[in-house]
Amino acid sequence: MATDLAIVIGHRESAQGAVAVDGTTEWQMHQWTARALEDAVESFGWRVKTVLRDDTPQGLDALAQKVDTYGALAAVSLHFNSFGKPSALGGDAGDWDGYGIPNECDDDADGDGDLDRHEAHGCEMLCARGSRRGHELASGLQAASLSSLRGVRSRGVKQIGRGGRGWKFLRCRPVAVLMEPFFGSNPRDLAVWYRDREAWVREVAIVLSNFLSGLE
Ligand SMILES: [Zn+2]
Repeated sequence: MATDLAIVIGHRESAQGAVAVDGTTEWQMHQWTARALEDAVESFGWRVKTVLRDDTPQGLDALAQKVDTYGALAAVSLHFNSFGKPSALGGDAGDWDGYGIPNECDDDADGDGDLDRHEAHGCEMLCARGSRRGHELASGLQAASLSSLRGVRSRGVKQIGRGGRGWKFLRCRPVAVLMEPFFGSNPRDLAVWYRDREAWVREVAIVLSNFLSGLE
């Protein structure tokens, strides 16, 4: 069956990505998100397919090609950020969302010079550098996220070059955005997510539907 939108749940069963402060992994968290977003986008009449990475160490390398087989116009991947060490459940090379390297992290909310793992926070969207459509979709999804996740700050839209963070997904053929709507390592971000995620799904679905309409 033809597909308009592919939703990719980040990571995989045997390597579930970052762990939020309540113990929930990215993989676990976004089972709910993918189902809700699929229903919401389908309610606008679009055909949606949720795609899982193959549950092998080679799964990430094969992901873009797997996404391409569905012929979708757009693809989004669901993640959350974290500050600290990779999940005890393991990760795949080049596939860590976290801000474990102090020089890459500007979060020091209390100004004491130490990067508190609970201080890193905010929402960001990743798209492929040079993709005008990707940047347009990422900007729309970022705006929808900031208006629905009340109190989560913007880390902006990040344009990713070849080989950069998320590239193994972003290189797929559909217009692609990797979504990092909050920091799971930040208790306040996480609480906002649980409080506002249904509104987030509604607003993100509207952006996706409007974007797909514009491609027709
Ligand atoms: Zn992730």
